[in-house]
Amino acid sequence: MTRRVKVEIEGTVQGVGFRPTVYRYARRHSLNGLVQNHTGGVVIDVEGADASIQAFLSELERQPPAQASIENMRVKDLVPCNYAGFEIEPSAEDGPKQLSIPPDLALCGDCRAEFFDSDNRRYRYPFINCTNCGPRYSIIYDPPYDRPRTSMANFSMCGTCRSEYTDPMDRRFDAQPNACFECGPALALLDSEGNALDGDPMKRTVELLRGGKIGIVKGLGGYHLCCLATDEEVVGRLRARKKRPHKAFAVMFATVDEVNEHCVLSEHAEAELTSATAPIVILPRRAHSTMADNVSPDTADIGAFLSYTPLHALLLQELSPLIMTSANLTDEPIAKERVEAGALLSSVGDFLLDHDRPIVRRCDDSVMRISPKNRIVMRRSRGLVPQALKLPFSGPVVLACGGDLKNTFALAHADRIILSPYIGDLSEYQTYAAFTDTVRDFKRIFQQQPEVIAYDLHPDYVSTRYAEENQNGMTGVRVQHHHAHIASCMAEHGLTGDVIGVALDGTGYGPDHTLWGGEFLHADYRDFERVAHLSPYPLPGGEAAVQNPLRMAFSVLVTDFGEEAAYRMFGSRLSKQETDTLSRMIAQGLNTFSTSSAGRIFDAVSALLGLCDGEVTYEGQAAVRLEQSAWRDDTADSYRFELVRAHDRVLLSLKDMFSGVCRDMERGLECGRIAAMVHNTLAEAVTEVCVQIRGRSDTDRVVLSGGVFQNALLLEKVQTRLQERGLRVYAHRVVPPNDGGISLGQAAIAAARWYADSNGRKEER
Ligand code: ZN
Ligand code: ZN
Ligand code: FE
Repeated sequence: MTRRVKVEIEGTVQGVGFRPTVYRYARRHSLNGLVQNHTGGVVIDVEGADASIQAFLSELERQPPAQASIENMRVKDLVPCNYAGFEIEPSAEDGPKQLSIPPDLALCGDCRAEFFDSDNRRYRYPFINCTNCGPRYSIIYDPPYDRPRTSMANFSMCGTCRSEYTDPMDRRFDAQPNACFECGPALALLDSEGNALDGDPMKRTVELLRGGKIGIVKGLGGYHLCCLATDEEVVGRLRARKKRPHKAFAVMFATVDEVNEHCVLSEHAEAELTSATAPIVILPRRAHSTMADNVSPDTADIGAFLSYTPLHALLLQELSPLIMTSANLTDEPIAKERVEAGALLSSVGDFLLDHDRPIVRRCDDSVMRISPKNRIVMRRSRGLVPQALKLPFSGPVVLACGGDLKNTFALAHADRIILSPYIGDLSEYQTYAAFTDTVRDFKRIFQQQPEVIAYDLHPDYVSTRYAEENQNGMTGVRVQHHHAHIASCMAEHGLTGDVIGVALDGTGYGPDHTLWGGEFLHADYRDFERVAHLSPYPLPGGEAAVQNPLRMAFSVLVTDFGEEAAYRMFGSRLSKQETDTLSRMIAQGLNTFSTSSAGRIFDAVSALLGLCDGEVTYEGQAAVRLEQSAWRDDTADSYRFELVRAHDRVLLSLKDMFSGVCRDMERGLECGRIAAMVHNTLAEAVTEVCVQIRGRSDTDRVVLSGGVFQNALLLEKVQTRLQERGLRVYAHRVVPPNDGGISLGQAAIAAARWYADSNGRKEER
C-alpha cells in the first residue's frame, strides 16, 4: 500500500548538499516526490511503500550530509497523489527569503584528492570546490543561495561544469561556486607598484616568498599578509611594517603532520583544526620547532591553522609553514577589495597575489584555544558565522550592538540569533564604518526589521551613541556589560532561572558610574544583583593606566601600603616625575576612576614582576605574559585573601596577596612560582565567594565569563575548585568569553525583558 508524507526539516540544511542527498536516498529506496528549500529549512514530499519511507527517513537522520545538522524533523501524512518520479524543485522565488546562509567551508577531502590528482581536470585548480566545501557567506550578495546572487554570477559555466551542476547524482550538483580552469576565476600577480607580473603567478609567488619577500594574498573573507614563518628577519620586517611588535602571528601549515612537528597536537585540537571551520588553534610549541622566535614572542604557543582553500593548499604545498595574518593596519578591518589591498602594497606588502572572484563580505579567521576540558573561542568568525545559535526562549526581533572592543553585533528573531563576524575596535573610524555597513547588510540579507535595540550602559561607547542616534522607533534596552557577559554564557548553555555569575573582565561601565570588572552577580536574564566584587583600586588616568600596567601596579601599592612602600618597590622603574604625578592624581582623584576590574589585577601583578615595562602593544598583553610565566606543576602554594562584608555585599580584598607578592619578590622567589601562586589565589578566592553566595541563594550553578577567562590556566583552576565544592560550572564553548560574546547576552536580556513586559509583569528596573 502506498503512503505519502510531508517532511519538514529545520536546522543547517541549505547550501550543504542536503537536497541532492535527499534525492539520492529517495532514489535508492524507490520513492517518488520532491524536495524543496523553504524558509529556514527543507521540505520533502515523498511517496512509496511504508517500509521504504521508514528506511529513507532513518537513513537521512543517521547519515545527513557532512556539513548539515538536523534540529527538527516533522512528519505528516498526506493523501497519495501518484508522483511520476523524484525531483529537486528550485528554491521558491517569491515567499519569504531564507534566514539561512551557510558559513564558508574549508576544502573537503574529496576535492583535496582531486586537486592533487594529476589526471583530474581540476588538478591544481586554485578554486576547486563542491557541495560540501568552498565559499558561501563571503560570496553571497542576496539569499536564497543561488549562483546569480553570488560573486560567481559573472563566470558562466562551461559545458562540463554545467553538466555536473545539473546532475543530482554528481557531487557538484547545485554547487554554486562550481568552476574549472576553463570557466572559473583565475590568479593574477602584481608587483609593489600594482603592475601585472608575467609568468605563472603561483610559481612566482613561491619564488618571491622564498626570497624573503612579504606577500599580500587574497583568501576567503579577506586578504592575508604572508611570509616565511621560519625566517626571523622577514618576520621582523613584517612586524615593523605592520606596526605590530609583539602580538602573535598565525601560522598556516600544509598538513596535520607538519603541525605536529612544530606543535603539541591533542586529539581535540586536531579535530577542530581539520574541521570544515578550520580555525586558528593555539597550540603549545615543541622545543625543537624551527619556527622563528618572533612569530609569537610573548608566548610558547603557536596559532596554527591548515591551508583551508585550494589556493592556500597550492601555495603551502610548495612552501610551508607560512605566516598568514589579516592584511590591514593595526585595528583597521581586514582588506577585502583590491583597492584596499593595493593600498598596503609597498608600505606593508612587496607583491599581491590576487584573483577575480570578488569577496562580498569580510570575515576574519576564527581563533580558539583547545584543552581536554575546554574550548575557548577567542574570535568567532570565518567558518562559524553566520550559523544561527538558539536562544532558550522566543522574543522579538532584536538588534544587539555589542561592545566597543572586539565588537560583534547580533540579530535575534524568535528563538534564533545570528552573531556578526568579528568586527574589531569601534573607536577606529574604518572599523566603525564596517560595523554600520555590516548591520545594514545583516538586516537586509536576513530580512529583519528590529523592534528592540540593545546596547551597553556605557555613555561614551561608540556603540551606545550609534544605538541612541539610530533608534527610529525601536525600543531601546540598556544592558550592564557584565550582566551581558553572564547572560551570553547562560544562553549558550540554554540555562534558564537564576545563576551565580562570575565576570572576570577588563572594564565595563557600572550603574554606580565606576568601572566594574571583577563581579559576582546573582542573575537571571532579566535582572541581576551585584552580590560581591573585587575591592576597587584607583585607575589613574583611566585608559592611560590600561596602556601602562606599571601605573596600575603603582596605584595598587599606594592604595594598600602607602606612598613610601610604593616608591621603595618601584625604585627606578617609573621616573620620579611620573610617580609624583601618579601620587597626586590618586590622592586628589584627578582624572582617576575607581575600578574593581580583575584584568587590572593581572596587569598590576605582571608589571610588579617585571614582565611588562612600559606601554602594552595589544589588549591583554600583560595578562598573557603572566599566564605564560606561571609554573604549570602543582607545587605552588597560594596567598591569603580576605572577604570583607560591606553593607549588602562582600568585597574580595587582595591586599594580602599583593603584600605576599612583594615579600616573595624581595626574597628572590622565582617569578614563575609567584605567578602560579597568584593564579591559585584568584581561583581559591573566586571559589570561596561562590560558596558564600550559594549559602544565600538557591542556586548551585556558577557561570564563568569575561575576557580574563581567555586565560586557560585560570579557567581550569577555577573549574576544578568550584567542582570540588559541589558547584556546577558553566564556561563558554561557543562564543568568546571576551567582548566578542556580549552581543549574545544583550539580545537574550532584551528579549527576556520584552517578554516579561508583554506578559504584564512590570518588575523592570
Ligand atoms: Zn569539496
Ligand atoms: Zn568549467
Ligand atoms: Fe568585557
